[in-house]
Amino acid sequence: MEKEWHSLSVVDCMAELQSSQDGLSETEAAMRRQQFGANQLAEGNKVSLLTVFLNQFRDFMILVLLAATLISGLLGEYTDAITIIAIIILNGVLGFVQEVRAEKSLAALKELTAPVARVRRAGQVLSLPARDLVPGDMVLLADGDRVPADARIVTATHFAVEESALTGESLPVNKQPDLTVQGDAPLGDRRNMVYMGTMVTRGKAEILVTATGMQTEMGKIAHLMQQSEDTLTPLQKRLEELGKVLVWLALGLTVVVVLTGVLHGHPWVQMFLAGVSLAVAAIPEGLPAIVTIALALGVQRMIKRNAIVRKLPSVETLGCATVICSDKTGTLTQNRMTALHVYADGVTYDISGTGYEPAGEFLLAGQKVHPDKRAALKSLIEIGAVCNNALMVQKNSENGSQWQVQGDPTEGALLVMAAKAGFTEPDSVYTRLGERPFDSERKMMSVLVQHGNEYMAFVKGAPDVLLKKSTRMFSGGREVGLSAGLQKSIVEMNDRFASEALRNLAFAYKMFPSQEAAMAGDWESDLVFVGLCGMMDPPREEAYEAILKCREAGIRTVMITGDHQQTATAIAKKLTILPEGGKVLTGAELDKLSDEDLLRLAKQTFVYARVSPEHKLRIVRALQANGEIVAMTGDGVNDAPAIKQADIGISMGQSGTDVAKEASSLVLADDNFATIVAAVEEGRGIYDNIKKFIRYLLASNVGEIVTMFLAMLIGLPLPLQPIQILWVNLVTDGLPAIALGVDPAEKDIMKRRPRNVHEGIFARGMGTKILSRGILIGIVTLAVFMYTLQREHNLHLAQTMAYATLTMAQLILVFDCRSLEGGILKRNFFGNIWLILAVVSSVLLFLITLYVPSIARAFDTVALSPTQWAIVLVLAAIPTFALSIRRAGRNALRPKDKNDSHRFAA
Ligand code: ADP
Ligand code: MG
Repeated sequence: MEKEWHSLSVVDCMAELQSSQDGLSETEAAMRRQQFGANQLAEGNKVSLLTVFLNQFRDFMILVLLAATLISGLLGEYTDAITIIAIIILNGVLGFVQEVRAEKSLAALKELTAPVARVRRAGQVLSLPARDLVPGDMVLLADGDRVPADARIVTATHFAVEESALTGESLPVNKQPDLTVQGDAPLGDRRNMVYMGTMVTRGKAEILVTATGMQTEMGKIAHLMQQSEDTLTPLQKRLEELGKVLVWLALGLTVVVVLTGVLHGHPWVQMFLAGVSLAVAAIPEGLPAIVTIALALGVQRMIKRNAIVRKLPSVETLGCATVICSDKTGTLTQNRMTALHVYADGVTYDISGTGYEPAGEFLLAGQKVHPDKRAALKSLIEIGAVCNNALMVQKNSENGSQWQVQGDPTEGALLVMAAKAGFTEPDSVYTRLGERPFDSERKMMSVLVQHGNEYMAFVKGAPDVLLKKSTRMFSGGREVGLSAGLQKSIVEMNDRFASEALRNLAFAYKMFPSQEAAMAGDWESDLVFVGLCGMMDPPREEAYEAILKCREAGIRTVMITGDHQQTATAIAKKLTILPEGGKVLTGAELDKLSDEDLLRLAKQTFVYARVSPEHKLRIVRALQANGEIVAMTGDGVNDAPAIKQADIGISMGQSGTDVAKEASSLVLADDNFATIVAAVEEGRGIYDNIKKFIRYLLASNVGEIVTMFLAMLIGLPLPLQPIQILWVNLVTDGLPAIALGVDPAEKDIMKRRPRNVHEGIFARGMGTKILSRGILIGIVTLAVFMYTLQREHNLHLAQTMAYATLTMAQLILVFDCRSLEGGILKRNFFGNIWLILAVVSSVLLFLITLYVPSIARAFDTVALSPTQWAIVLVLAAIPTFALSIRRAGRNALRPKDKNDSHRFAA
């Protein structure tokens, strides 16, 4: 019988689970981990390696080929049959290795985005993978967290959870520890419990884990939840469709080739096998696997640059982004706040010292003052330090000990400021009785504290918000009415700070006569205003270059922030986000705009200030309605809808909530704007590379078809033997294609405009390039074949020459494919070492079939003389070089305006 934790008191649950407020000891936790296993839901049916291997042979054309081989084997063509089967197996092994490798790197990716829980063990708060939780663990939850296990609530402040995943109820439910619930209460009524998979929408709590993994309520219904997410990228889907078309095309052509061949008197068995081999050749069956590898390897490169892809299709969309909407604080700026000025009781103090080092002085007009002698300043410093959840810690590193802040940097700056005034132990002076946490919607935070027998609320938040809630002001050591004149001077000072790009915070308090009055009263109205603090948050160094790069790449950067309009404007100007004539919109203005007006204004707006997360959704929609492809960052719970709506939703790896991360398709491990730009660059590179090997493989296939087709039309003998065709296709051209998949990006990749999302694979001349190169390859191959046949009257020699020309032409063409526009002459030949290695091994694989006697016998090839090799190589170079040279000539004649038309006009 299962425990009904919800009907027990917290104390009883603690006793039952042998845990305490301090959590479990590490040894106890390790033992329970052994006993209860990992805290995760059982995986859906996993595909075994054998299945993956067998799947390589389930391709329709491969089956046809196997059948054809079987028939030819029955008819006595043993060598052919055995060789073909060997080739098919080799091809299968290659495909298998590739697929397993791609799978592995995708699994590693999943690991990176696995959820983390904050756990208290032996009194220490640690961040652990949620997988390692055990019953009895004390876990800390805050808004935006995904609840990692089933648990009894131990403490909670303003805590609400959205449980629709379990109960279907989409409204958040308030949860409290001090309740006991009837044993048979339904899940939705158990207000002292939280369940795995639900989501914290508000407040904070500490919880005691009661069940993990498959024992949780979610575990019980896990089989109902096996939703399969779409992991095919748009390109992969398109390729799948293309594949179907190609199958029919290839079959049609094969029939024609076979029939013409038979009509010209070729034996039908031979023609049948040649036809099937040709069909296998014509269909790029290796393509999907190589696309997956290129994506997987690209995704790994992105990880190295701190961009973690959660949804594979976004890799392609990244290259199409036309606007990046970025949060300001922490993404464009360093989120290392320093309090620079305080305005209290009509005077402005400057604070010296930088960073988190608690060393500095308070200066009034250049003269050192002591805060203890200034009542308003002292009170402001105390409110800032008490209404605060951050922590200052001293970390030892190589270059001595360093001060760091744990928690919100804005609050950290206030602690540092207090430490400079010698106020380091706020908790020993004021006892906290309650808290209303900060959120970006309310833009303030308050705590209720006790000091001796005094009870008061300390409030801090955005100055405009606090000013509206204040009726008096602390001045000259007493409370005076907040006159219009006083208000005006506060607003003026606020604007002055903001125009210096400072982030402003205001402070206020409210006294209560008794504890009862305090608990029952409203802490955040009728306040006594104390003053302002302006803090500096310098832009990230990398941001400048990243923004410039975006501009060159035709991508607009838009700043979105909860900060004051002038602060935002000043920073946006500094970062060159806001051009001359660019617009700044505030949340209040947004509220008044109709959707049509917003649509129009969105085109010229570069900064959105004082916005709440829900405004972001409107902004994304307006931009999308304008035809933009939008990347949007966010970190909080309320950001999730906008992140989901964006074409590329981006969340913060460090400061982001679980909910935001789950909604996003890209996670920034370092919260850094420059990382988005790096991801865009990689995204463009990956797509380019995919185009490169598609072009290579398809042009090669066209070459083979043209060779065979023309030969049959003219009535020639078979220019290529079935085995030779298969060898070129299934063995020698695979490695170079993969190597193209990891080709370094072209230098101008961030100087082009974003690719149109609707653009097909064959757009921008790709189709023409594939056909022209392919046809040329076919023609030179056939020319070599006919010439040799005429001169030497030796079919096997002529076939060997054709086979060599075809193979070499492809291995030369691969270098042409490295540049989408420029051709073989544009790129550094040694720029891709993998490609060189791949081509060398392909050449060796080819030479084996000529020079290893037993294999040569199976392939019906003969060794070539130096002169013959010279003929082969010269003709094989024609398709690539003839066109490249022609293009180089044309480019030289054309005026050099090309780059400028690529530039983005802001
Ligand atoms: P952003 O992240 O875009 O800078 P926020 O929503 O964090 O915007 O902050 C909006 C405003 O709320 C800030 O300008 C500041 O005045 C106030 N604020 C920020 N952090 C806190 C906090 N921890 N407590 C109280 N007020 C805060
Ligand atoms: Mg913030």
